Amino acid sequence: MKLAGKVALITGASMGMGKGHAETFIAEGATVYLADINDEKGLATATELGDKAHFVHLDVTNEEDWQNAMDTIESKDGVLDILVNNAGISVFLPLSAMTKDQYMKSIEINQLSVFLGMKYALPLLEKSKAASIINISSIEGFHGSVGGYAYVSSKFAVRGLTRSAALELAGKNIRVNSVHPGAVETPMVLEATGAQKEAIEQFKTTIPMKRMAKPAEVSKLVLFLASDDSSYSTGAEFIVDGGNLA
Ligand code: NAD
Repeated sequence: MKLAGKVALITGASMGMGKGHAETFIAEGATVYLADINDEKGLATATELGDKAHFVHLDVTNEEDWQNAMDTIESKDGVLDILVNNAGISVFLPLSAMTKDQYMKSIEINQLSVFLGMKYALPLLEKSKAASIINISSIEGFHGSVGGYAYVSSKFAVRGLTRSAALELAGKNIRVNSVHPGAVETPMVLEATGAQKEAIEQFKTTIPMKRMAKPAEVSKLVLFLASDDSSYSTGAEFIVDGGNLA
């Protein structure tokens, strides 16, 4: 058990990769707070994952929600060992079509959320003997994409947030790393429609391994970073993309 006795919070955990990470963490002995804006799905997922899973309502852009989630964890467990900033949305539109509101919504959910998560979790992470923050970026944190103005810029920003926090928190025994998946079989990708679906189909043909990842293939990397196995890794970028960036 790599996470025996550890307490984790994962945002966007009601489905997709966040749910996969929660399943993996629980199997390795952790107590997991599944945080999501979707209460119905989040509660159903927590019930499915059993006694070690707890749902907390959390809109990652909302400071009050972050504080409430931390108050809940403090009253039940008194400490937080692992924070996974995973929640995200993907909106791809040409310059002429994307509005300021659409742009800012993606920036708030994908980027501001990472800053708020690290800021509000810090007091409880400081109580851990060895804490780990994992910020989920994308391979689109390394390259441009047609229509990816908001998504790509937010995912580049996650790298900067991660490195800055890693420098500030290294002395407090809190490690901070980013994870960069390629295409993964989650609702974000499988339920895409229109131009986005077309772009995904085209993208799949360019993956050297000729297939998308299963969420569990990303969870194993996130588990490594969450556990003490990665005790000397901080401020670093971990790619899981079937060879795409190569
Ligand atoms: P998903 O759409 O399947 O799930 C996202 C989850 O985030 C959902 O449960 C949703 O309810 C939640 N969420 C959305 N807005 C929220 C908010 N404001 N507050 C709290 N929760 C919110 O997505 P996924 O594919 O599992 O993606 C997870 C992360 O991985 C995202 O950051 C995404 O950008 C990144 N990523 C995904 C892929 C991919 O191919 N699926 C590739 C690279 C990176």
